[in-house]
Amino acid sequence: RQEQYKAIRHEEPRTLDGVRVDLNVNAGLLVDLPHMEESGADGIGLFRTELQFMIASTLPSQKDQQELYQAVLDAAGDKPVVFRTLDIGGDKVLPYMKVANEENPALGWRAIRIALDRPALLRHQLRALLAAAAGRELRLMFPMVTEVSEFVRARALVDKELRRLEKFDKPRPTGLQVGTMLEVPSLAWQFDTLLPLVDFVSVGSNDLLQFFFASDRGNARVAQRYDLLSPSALNFLRHVVLACQKHGVPLTLCGEVAGKPLEAMALIGIGFRRISMSPAAVGPVKMMVRSLDTGKLAAFMEALYARPDASVRGDLLRFAEENDI
Ligand code: PEP
Ligand code: MG
Repeated sequence: RQEQYKAIRHEEPRTLDGVRVDLNVNAGLLVDLPHMEESGADGIGLFRTELQFMIASTLPSQKDQQELYQAVLDAAGDKPVVFRTLDIGGDKVLPYMKVANEENPALGWRAIRIALDRPALLRHQLRALLAAAAGRELRLMFPMVTEVSEFVRARALVDKELRRLEKFDKPRPTGLQVGTMLEVPSLAWQFDTLLPLVDFVSVGSNDLLQFFFASDRGNARVAQRYDLLSPSALNFLRHVVLACQKHGVPLTLCGEVAGKPLEAMALIGIGFRRISMSPAAVGPVKMMVRSLDTGKLAAFMEALYARPDASVRGDLLRFAEENDI
């Protein structure tokens, strides 16, 4: 199998009926970068900037941050990189940052909530990102956005830093795309307000599914309740796909499920055309993509959305087997 994955490394992830599906990788440290090239991915769909903060013993300086982002962009070359701003709190603790104990950290003070309450942290990171991307395209997104107003406030900080560079005639990115992660279900019920404001949406299915099913992403006891391949989750994501299509907003998904061939197949059936996964998953997922007929799959899935079962995994497995996927 490894040999087969290697053999298609430079082949396109295109389905039998000609649909291009972009396969990106998730990364967070310099050591991850060679894997992007080795895996034959289209780019970095999620760069987790908090990892640099988590392995450090003190807060990384703006210069340290800028150096890392520059190295990432250099390594990626022409391929796109999506930086996610600091996603700390919840299960990601910084040893040197004092935070109060919380009873439900996953639902607590984390990610963009911290960034907006402590804007200096985000502002330094934005300066590092803008400087690192001088002369090239910068793509960034915010984690755990729950309300449109949070995106608006974070985006305003980006624009403020950009204006500062313009005012002092400092080098700046040639282009800027600012997106939101979709990890909290509430955001999906504000699409008509949100989507005109964002350059792209990236579904963080690890958090999204834990909130959607009210089931802890790290608790094995309730792992069974946490199935992307359930009619409710598929319906939810279908709603997301249709809204993004309606508003012409590029959509991607960067959670663990994107790296599982059966789940990735279902995502494509729903309408996703870009996903991001761990580098080791690119080979198996590309192989699945190249043996898939999206028209046939989408038609097959129509009947699944209204099924009363907790999971339609069996149906999708059968579809995959019967179609040599
Ligand atoms: C997610 O929640 O799906 C995600 C990509 O972010 P993280 O796993 O880093 O929380
Ligand atoms: Mg997340």
